[in-house]
Amino acid sequence: LEDKQSVSSSASLPRFLNSDLNDNFDYFIKKKLRVWRQLQNGQWESGHIQSISTEMASVLLKNGSVVTVSAEDLLPANPDVLEGVDDLMELSYLNEPSVLYNLEYRYSHDLIYSMSGPVLIATNPFKNVELYGNDYVTAYRQKLLDSPHVYSVANTAYNEMMRDGINQAIIISGESGSGKTETANVALQYLESLGGGNDGIELQLMQTSHVLEAFGNAKTSLNDNSSRFGKSIAVYFNDAGNICGAKIQTFLLEKSRVVHQARGERSYHIFYQLCAGAPSALKEKLNLKAASEYKYLNQSCLGVNNVDDAQMFQILLKALSTLSISKEDQEHVFEVVAAVLWLGNISFQVIGNENHVEVVADEALSTAASLIGCRCEDLMLALSTSKSHTEKDNVAKNLILQQAIDKRDELAKFVYASLFNWLVYKINGSMEKGELQDGRSISILDIYGFESVQKNSLEQLFINYASERLHQHFIRHLLKLQQEEYDLDGIDWTNVEYRDNKDCLDLFEKRQTGLISLLGEESRLSKTSNLTFAEKLNQHCKTNPCFNREQGGAFTIRHYAGEVQYNSIDFLEKNRDSLHSDITGLLLSCSGQLPHLFASNHVDDTSVFPQRSVGTKLKAHLFKLMHQLENSTPHFILCIKPNRKQIPGMFEKELVLKQLRCCEILQVVRISRSGYPTRLTHQEFAERYGILSKFDIIQDPLSASVSVLQQFGIQPEMYQVGYTRLYFRTGQNDALEEARKQVL
Ligand code: ADP
Ligand code: MG
Repeated sequence: LEDKQSVSSSASLPRFLNSDLNDNFDYFIKKKLRVWRQLQNGQWESGHIQSISTEMASVLLKNGSVVTVSAEDLLPANPDVLEGVDDLMELSYLNEPSVLYNLEYRYSHDLIYSMSGPVLIATNPFKNVELYGNDYVTAYRQKLLDSPHVYSVANTAYNEMMRDGINQAIIISGESGSGKTETANVALQYLESLGGGNDGIELQLMQTSHVLEAFGNAKTSLNDNSSRFGKSIAVYFNDAGNICGAKIQTFLLEKSRVVHQARGERSYHIFYQLCAGAPSALKEKLNLKAASEYKYLNQSCLGVNNVDDAQMFQILLKALSTLSISKEDQEHVFEVVAAVLWLGNISFQVIGNENHVEVVADEALSTAASLIGCRCEDLMLALSTSKSHTEKDNVAKNLILQQAIDKRDELAKFVYASLFNWLVYKINGSMEKGELQDGRSISILDIYGFESVQKNSLEQLFINYASERLHQHFIRHLLKLQQEEYDLDGIDWTNVEYRDNKDCLDLFEKRQTGLISLLGEESRLSKTSNLTFAEKLNQHCKTNPCFNREQGGAFTIRHYAGEVQYNSIDFLEKNRDSLHSDITGLLLSCSGQLPHLFASNHVDDTSVFPQRSVGTKLKAHLFKLMHQLENSTPHFILCIKPNRKQIPGMFEKELVLKQLRCCEILQVVRISRSGYPTRLTHQEFAERYGILSKFDIIQDPLSASVSVLQQFGIQPEMYQVGYTRLYFRTGQNDALEEARKQVL
């Protein structure tokens, strides 16, 4: 097994090239070294400096021509020996063209993983690369390989958890289609290999992805297998380091997709899988037709390139069985899936002269009713009338066409979303093996990737809000906290500028006047509309630099990852997400086990949180997640989408650069590179290394510490003395550790 991910090392470089020379450009120009020159179109081209006058430089380009350009338009390029280094920290010259060139070079050699200081960058290969499997897992565990890889991140997390007894979190971010879910699966694969004693739980871990993806993923315009929910999976270990349990949390499944998809997109995979792959007995039982026969499916595309839905169905069945979901329960699940499809085929006809409707009594109605286990008449009544709640008038009101369609769709969405949650609940049940210990878990987070599509609605707004929340965590850990600590401790430090997304989060989260609160309020009040909402939003948020009101009910938000225009047309209904009480009533009376259960859960739920909107629930859920993350050691993976076409071998520089900029990657590298990762309080240092000193560590710990540093010839630029702590650059205390071992 060779370390394919590793390229050259900078060990043999002259010292001046190894330090941060960005400000030493004069030297560079005198030596006529390699430079980057920016072209009109923003792209960069490399060349060698030939000569230089005060302001102009002549540069010899690769094609042999010589151009004269302003020296200001040049950036230093790295020496050849640094071509394709593993870690961007190793680059002598840290600038955008150098970073892009390095990543592109690696990508073209199938080196899809790179480090940028503490962050693993994973560039989506859009093809199978030979970097996975048992041999690789073993090699990373035994540290035979140390090139950047998800396996090595997972291994570090595992070792730190075992050493420190602190929960770990592998946080995967990146825009839609960048490879988060695949990366999460690779990490899971690694954890799985750590073994689970005898109960076979490690065999179940990967199977969870098959189930969740079948029910929660769909083809979108950005990704053929896009997750339409957020997921965090926590794997628990026992003291021996074996897996002893796992727990999945999911966030907000996109329900609207069940009844409607944008052009070229699909509904959830399971619908197509079931239609294509169900064995004939099951087909007969569910009265199942081809996917093209169902209105919820046939209004947009039906297939996905290179995907065999029937085969995926077989994989799903196996996964369900491995997860101990009984054959009987599996049948119930498919009954619900088929019921949703048949509900979509239920149609209405207008009667009388007030445009009231009646449900057409056809095959769709009878099949849907029998699958959920109710009488046809009851379903007809529930879909064509509405019982008002008020005490005085408990009479059913007839519905007009649009109301009836909405009610039918509401039922379908509710049943499907409940099914998804129930599956997660069942899976968790089967992976719960004994007591789970705090401080002995690794969570893998694959939440939402930033999304901007043609028509952005509440789904995108929530996805992008969640993505902002996680981005703040990233910024806080990698940029803010680091620098704050140096400042507070009086360390001499050149501040690195970065863009904080606090304003944008404020826009969403401010109490009472933030978007989530305002939206919740407008959804609760009567006589409101998306226009009154847009107006209120504008009133309270117009001073926020990330907000802009557009025509009608539209507005623009400047997210960390780009500007998105939202149309608020159906925001209030979607956020309200109410379920008519007669729908709950209908389901409660059903003989179908699952529909009945879903309704009673809903009743329980609404009695606890009577008026919570989707937005406020999401906000609360995210806060809980953030709280968990604050108590975990984070490991960040940033997935990069190298092209919009989802094809291998294509590296669109501007697209990649935009993603690197959004995540402030150069700043992260800069801070890590000039940072001091090893930190000890004066007391801790004196206690640990005091035995190497002649000074009395009790009387004067600081003098004792400084004398030790001098004694061992640690250069002043390699450490700093803060008010409370000593800070060291990487590897500086190795010699001290050695000496200490010898004395002890
Ligand atoms: P995201 O979750 O960020 O939206 P996915 O993880 O679903 O993106 O990845 C999108 C697609 O990219 C996958 O369906 C797969 O085809 C491809 N892909 C991503 N990562 C890898 C990888 N490591 N190896 C091979 N293909 C990958
Ligand atoms: Mg995904």
